[in-house]
Amino acid sequence: MKFHIHTFGCQMNERDSERMAAWLSRAGHAPAADESGADLIIINTCSIRKKAEDKVYSLIGRLEKDKRNRPDLILAVAGCVAEQQGEALLRRFPGLNLVFGTHQIGRVAALVKQAQAGERVTAIGALPDADRLFGYLPFQRAPGVSTFVTIMEGCDNWCSYCVVPALRGREISRPPAEIINEVRALTYTGYREFTLIGQNVNSYRPAIGLNFIDILSLVAEIPDVLRLRFATSHPKDLSPELTRAFTEIPNLARHLHLPAQSGSNRVLAAMNRHYTREEYLEKVEKLRAACPDIAITTDMIIGFPGEEESDFRQTMKILDEARFDGSFSFVFSPRPGTRAADMAGTVENAEGKRRLKIFQDRQDEITLEINQALVGQVQKVLIEGINPKPRTRGAASLTGRTSGNKIVHLPGSLDLIGKITPVRITEAAIHSLRGTIEDNPVSSEARS
Ligand code: SAM
Ligand code: SF4
Repeated sequence: MKFHIHTFGCQMNERDSERMAAWLSRAGHAPAADESGADLIIINTCSIRKKAEDKVYSLIGRLEKDKRNRPDLILAVAGCVAEQQGEALLRRFPGLNLVFGTHQIGRVAALVKQAQAGERVTAIGALPDADRLFGYLPFQRAPGVSTFVTIMEGCDNWCSYCVVPALRGREISRPPAEIINEVRALTYTGYREFTLIGQNVNSYRPAIGLNFIDILSLVAEIPDVLRLRFATSHPKDLSPELTRAFTEIPNLARHLHLPAQSGSNRVLAAMNRHYTREEYLEKVEKLRAACPDIAITTDMIIGFPGEEESDFRQTMKILDEARFDGSFSFVFSPRPGTRAADMAGTVENAEGKRRLKIFQDRQDEITLEINQALVGQVQKVLIEGINPKPRTRGAASLTGRTSGNKIVHLPGSLDLIGKITPVRITEAAIHSLRGTIEDNPVSSEARS
């Protein structure tokens, strides 16, 4: 059977889709060239905000219509929406054959077999810890330079607005040997930059007793790992040791994504974040003291229930105090089953959007100021590939990233792909920089 997977949401979901593909391939199925050539279509879903969930429903609707002309097509929904809605999805969409949740990836081939036999199948719910990590198999990724490796699943933090703990289960850490083997195998296929991912990587604690700094150090030492990143860190768990790691691990990129979520202590308490704005800012200050060139980015939720104009002003203030290199910001989206969904003090959507625009406009100004300050400097850029949208046709245009995770476009030859090269920054915009190669002391040994 030929399969096609649509993936919504975060890098966690991208990795989960690869794991599904690996299990299906092992069972003798093969990826289709595109959706129209597939006998099985899986939609791997995200429900972090309502908008993400709505996109899923409109895709299921479209595929159900297509199915009228291809009655043998098997339609499956996986991931967070599947976990949340379960059997209700089968009732709402008569064309669906299979719904399977975030814990069932390792069973995908068996579930598809049941669906092929004519059953309408729902498989959701947590598994015992001992069975949870059975979903990993060596799998092939499309060739590239930079990739993500899952080191943890689940989350124990229960932020009051967030569906992740309920849908992805308790935190569990992947064994270090598995992570190291996966990274090593990926370096053989040409990957040079690795982002270790989990919902709160600071609490990485596998059964054999290592911690997050240990796994960072072990992966950093693997030959050909030119650059290492991680996401996401919870501010309450950002330790002095991790701050020190930025100065001690030479190929650890000088970038930290540290979601603040709000600048108001009242709102942070209602969000169940376990830190104050003062504690957050102190950690940022210590990071900058230890590592002055570090780029810091954040996530912010605007219009949380009970957010008054004065709370929003505190969020605007933290933006100027922390001077984030960038941020992902969203209007609060009430999610069924979360505590915040039932909290009083709803901020009207129009007001939320108004505040969001003020926030994003100021963030753009700060980002541009920070990026412009890089003009004239030489940055170490890991060249990732060809610029998909070159400004002028003809000369090869490459694209890469600085250690601080800023995209840089530059002219250069294709043999630089996968190498760290010094680039003098010549122009800066909000979302990218331009530059030219400084000398030519390119070294595949150069790190970070
Ligand atoms: N574990 C990470 C953390 O704590 O930052 C990432 C969690 S989540 C997948 C990514 C971001 O989505 C969060 O940082 C938060 O800003 C946003 N988010 C989560 N739930 C939300 C909600 N109900 N409404 C709006 N934004 C939300
Ligand atoms: Fe959600 Fe909070 Fe866990 Fe992040 S730390 S996944 S925001 S509950």
